[in-house]
Amino acid sequence: MTEKRQFRAIKGTRDILPPDSALWNWFEQTAREVFESYGFRDIRLPIFEETSLFARSIGADTDVVAKEMYTFEDREQFRVAHPLTMVDVIRIDEAVAEAWQHGRIPRTLANETEVLRLHEASQNIDREGTPALLCFLDSVRNLALGDSLTLRPEATASVARAYIEHGMHTQPGNVKLYYSGPMFRRERPQKGRYRQFYQVGAEALGQSDAPGIDAEVLEMLLVFFKRVGLTQTTLYVNSIGCKECRPKYVELLREELRKVKDRLGPDSQRRIDTNPLRVLDSKLPDEQPIIEKLPRISNHLCADCGEHFAKLKDELHLRGIVYEENWRLVRGLDYYTRTTFEVTAAGLGSQNAVCGGGRYDGLVELLGGPPTKGIGFAIGTDRAILSIQEGGKLPQLPGLAVFVAWMGAKSYPAAVAIARKLRECGLAVELPPEEMKFKKSLGLADKLGARYALIIGEDDVASGTFTLKRLADAEQKKLSENDLLEYLESERRGSGA
Ligand code: ATP
Ligand code: MG
Repeated sequence: MTEKRQFRAIKGTRDILPPDSALWNWFEQTAREVFESYGFRDIRLPIFEETSLFARSIGADTDVVAKEMYTFEDREQFRVAHPLTMVDVIRIDEAVAEAWQHGRIPRTLANETEVLRLHEASQNIDREGTPALLCFLDSVRNLALGDSLTLRPEATASVARAYIEHGMHTQPGNVKLYYSGPMFRRERPQKGRYRQFYQVGAEALGQSDAPGIDAEVLEMLLVFFKRVGLTQTTLYVNSIGCKECRPKYVELLREELRKVKDRLGPDSQRRIDTNPLRVLDSKLPDEQPIIEKLPRISNHLCADCGEHFAKLKDELHLRGIVYEENWRLVRGLDYYTRTTFEVTAAGLGSQNAVCGGGRYDGLVELLGGPPTKGIGFAIGTDRAILSIQEGGKLPQLPGLAVFVAWMGAKSYPAAVAIARKLRECGLAVELPPEEMKFKKSLGLADKLGARYALIIGEDDVASGTFTLKRLADAEQKKLSENDLLEYLESERRGSGA
């Protein structure tokens, strides 16, 4: 007997249903159009990558890597049988050594230890007997034979990986890429915070770090937000220095934080050692007056970073971009340098960041690529759409144009033919597969939100005409096929469908 049960979407994931899905498509399509007008092109990336790609780029001390990643061991490429005899032990020892040499056992530190232990134990079994055999068995069990993989928590690391893997640094000019798709983080689900959420992002990589690139990326972002009606936004910018000046500032911050350690909460206390910049992120009311008195990075930038930030502000001014400087904006990921920014939007409560981004000049090199500059951002699609919905200024999306209300078996072939022609013109058409009573048919057309009902009776087929009824005001016209197609075509252009 199979148990009867209902399935539900996993906590923190959700279905995007129609009509909302149309809003999502429109949002993503608009992003494509705006980003492409700035010379960015689509990149489609894998949803999972090697765990160490994220650990290395995002940073082991960040919340994302330390506690939010969905990590799993892949199916092993190499199997170890259970030893039964001494001959088996020798054979396994040899097979493991060979697999390790050829990279068929993932080269992690833990595996390296186990491979050595296993070999040592196999050598000692003759002399030591059972204890060495147990040690051998233990190592066999501890080997993590499958690769460690992670569902991507963000996409910048993948873009940098792809940039290196495909030698994109040889392409002319800046490499400008955008992506769109789901990301995964194990966080506490709440309004605007999900475990599977969506981002639309863009990255510009290349040899130049001219502030004009930063400003253009910000301009593109704000043009996009305006286009989708996300207008109650605030742009915050900051510079967090480079590998010359930031470490010195972080050390200074750490020293100052140690002096006030007793007055900080446990999270901030821990971060003094692990990641002092993150203390500036704190929202705890008690910590605010303390943080306000901490040294600010803007006073500790090196000359180059100071100049870069000043030029960025000039560039923003040139483009008429309104922003607020926020010295506490440090961003959660380790790879950022210099320019960092965030955009908040209305109607979202405490999850009000709809976009985060910044410069990451060392990232490509950190991942084994050539020295490369980079800047990018990621927009949280879920939150951006929530904010657009809360703002109430939703776009007029086309929806169902024509409901074909046919009556009488003889009119069915004409209905099938005209439905196909209208669809070829790009109109959304609903054709009932079975005959319906006139009233019921028009009632359904109305419920489905069709703009027109196309009424076809057997008399119409004989006379070669169609009756088109506009459902909003019940206005009705008799039209020949040509006139009908022409009329609806111009209507489609007018409605933007
Ligand atoms: P937050 O501080 O809100 O956790 P974050 O700094 O972790 O955001 P980023 O890594 O900068 O976020 O990602 C960029 C954007 O992606 C965020 O501004 C937000 O809009 C969105 N985002 C991040 N995490 C989530 C999530 N769990 N659910 C929905 N959207 C998210
Ligand atoms: Mg977060």
